Amino acid sequence: MTFDLHSHSTHSDGLLTPPDLVARAARRGVGTLALTDHDDLSGLAAARVAAQQLDIALVNGVEISVSWQALTLHIVGLQIDPGNRELDAGLQQIRDGRLRRAEAMATSLEQAGIAGSLDGARAYAGNPELVSRTHFARFLVERGHAHDVAAVFKKYLTGDKPGHVPHQWASLQQAVGWINASGGMAVLAHPGRYKLGNAQRDKLLAEFKDLGGVGVEVVTGSHTVRQYADWGRHAQRYGLLASAGSDFHGPGESYRDLGNLPALPAGCTPVWSLF
Ligand code: AMP
Ligand code: MN
Ligand code: MN
Ligand code: MN
Repeated sequence: MTFDLHSHSTHSDGLLTPPDLVARAARRGVGTLALTDHDDLSGLAAARVAAQQLDIALVNGVEISVSWQALTLHIVGLQIDPGNRELDAGLQQIRDGRLRRAEAMATSLEQAGIAGSLDGARAYAGNPELVSRTHFARFLVERGHAHDVAAVFKKYLTGDKPGHVPHQWASLQQAVGWINASGGMAVLAHPGRYKLGNAQRDKLLAEFKDLGGVGVEVVTGSHTVRQYADWGRHAQRYGLLASAGSDFHGPGESYRDLGNLPALPAGCTPVWSLF
């Protein structure tokens, strides 16, 4: 059985609709797919209908944006209840903040001589409440400011570059709390992407575990082979289970396609042992 527990649809910054995403996963031999749109649950119902028709198991998921110390972290929730009020209200707050951030990003790009980016990004957003940096990046590619989305993030939208604005997301405690309140499991997404020193890494893992976190993404499209082994060990050190997900956003925009994932390192307990 192939598990892919991290993916995006047009309800956040993916390129495929939920039914098209599920169909692609089924075609590629995925047995269990989690749809984990950023800060939003609205794609899950359509994904479920498609999954039932295609005989693939769908895990209700979400990827929650979090501010921790000076970093932005992503926490994936698996097997969450999309009808849970507390989770829904928390995500709504994050989406409200996203709209204000998008306006500030457009102002920053305007100051760098790039006009019209808010409308431009909105035109790429399938979900009007979920305008992300990816949508701005697609607009910047369209206007010739970079040759692809990955190249945009080297020149814009990060650090002290045009289009980047600091933003306060949910706290780690809130994100894990909402996921747990809805009966789900919290998984630290793509930890190799965060700029963490060793002491800070251990503090994060200890705090996450303390708050009720369950797993760490060990195998993800964002990790190198070396990082699979490293994060497999860190997960074991903290009694955290291991997850695997492509973080697929769309053909041509992702490092890994759906289901194209190596096995977990030896010694890891898969998070799906709890499914
Ligand atoms: P946001 O949540 O609006 O800040 O957007 C974050 C999204 O931007 C991530 O989920 C990725 O899809 C995308 N992203 C961030 N950094 C990069 C990068 N270096 N290359 C490509 N996509 C990126
Ligand atoms: Mn994304
Ligand atoms: Mn992420
Ligand atoms: Mn993701």
